[in-house]
Amino acid sequence: MIRKTRLYTPGPTPLLPAAQFAMAAADIHHRTAEFRALYTRVLAQMKEFVGTTNDVLILASSGTGAMEASVSNLTSPGDRVLVLTAGKFGERWTGITKAFGCEVDVVSAPYGSTFSLDQVKAALKLETRAVFVQATESSTGVRHDVQAIGQLLKDAKSEALFIVDAITGLGTTHLDMDAWGIDVLIGGSQKALMIPPGLSYLAVSPRAWDRMEATYNPRYYFDLRKERKNALKGESAYTPSVALIAAMGAALDWIAAQADGNLVEGRKKLVDNAETCAAMTRAAATAMGLKLFAPQGSEAAAATGILPPEGVDSGAIVKGLRSKFAIIVTDGQGEMKGSLFRIAHIGFFDYMDTIAVIGALEQVAVALKLPLPNLAFGTGLIAAQKVFAERTK
Ligand SMILES: *Cc1c(COP(=O)(O)O)cnc(C)c1O
Repeated sequence: MIRKTRLYTPGPTPLLPAAQFAMAAADIHHRTAEFRALYTRVLAQMKEFVGTTNDVLILASSGTGAMEASVSNLTSPGDRVLVLTAGKFGERWTGITKAFGCEVDVVSAPYGSTFSLDQVKAALKLETRAVFVQATESSTGVRHDVQAIGQLLKDAKSEALFIVDAITGLGTTHLDMDAWGIDVLIGGSQKALMIPPGLSYLAVSPRAWDRMEATYNPRYYFDLRKERKNALKGESAYTPSVALIAAMGAALDWIAAQADGNLVEGRKKLVDNAETCAAMTRAAATAMGLKLFAPQGSEAAAATGILPPEGVDSGAIVKGLRSKFAIIVTDGQGEMKGSLFRIAHIGFFDYMDTIAVIGALEQVAVALKLPLPNLAFGTGLIAAQKVFAERTK
């Protein structure tokens, strides 16, 4: 049979055709009225997509660039900061803050779990200047309780800025930056926005802008104050990725069109969509006798981490899906390699995509004779069908 390559990865995610067409047509110079009109519109739409009244800035970098910018612009060498981590992306915060000379306290929880609020409370000090966390940890498929951490910081009357990597949280989980006391919220183009990698974006609170007046870590390309000044004129400090910005505009229009032109409602639909795809996948895996990596109640809708049966390397399942169906799912990252596989739901995935990957997983499970109690065609699909019908009736 022919095989169509399909990405089921939590970034890059499948591309939206309308965005691809917009990219191909984006032959515009960036110091012109035409670009300024596009950029101004996209920056305004991004506020609605993020769901904030704060400034949103767009940078030409992958998501990690915005993570680095939040550290370089908001800390000074010797600042005490707190990193909350339970996975590979959490560890990235530790790496970046150390690289910029911060004194880093770390609260860590085992991969596949999340930390308790008591742990966070115990680690928060009077002198903590910033707290870093992921909204959803893409390497494990676990959602952290950002709202509760924000509340804890408020209750403690902490001076710490609250900086959240929502690179796979945006568009897959409900986030309320302004109400939850988030100071910086970070996203990336290759995730829920359904466009290629190359742009990061971040929303910045007034408190964070104030902090920037006094911090003195080195920064040049990622100087957020300079970027904001330019954004107000409809430009970026340096040559922007014009094609990706055109794609972003098309993607935001498409999301709005899902709800009769209302971008905020469209974003909620995108979150609902990811949640339904994730719930279908969890139900299918569980019905097949596979175990989920994330604890119940903390599952990220961005991606589902699934454990292979005991004694089986997850690589065999990843390879099986790839060779039989050209389906790309991700194995565990780093030391988790071989012990889980991840199916993404973030962005441009629908019912058909989800049913397809579950059907393919059943084929691979049977072909590999996985030691599962319920190894039979249809077990996962039936469970997924029921979840879909229930959630969309
Ligand atoms: C994808 C991702 C990133 C950013 O990675 P880049 O490769 O720099 O785009 C950061 N955090 C999380 C949680 C992610 O999923």
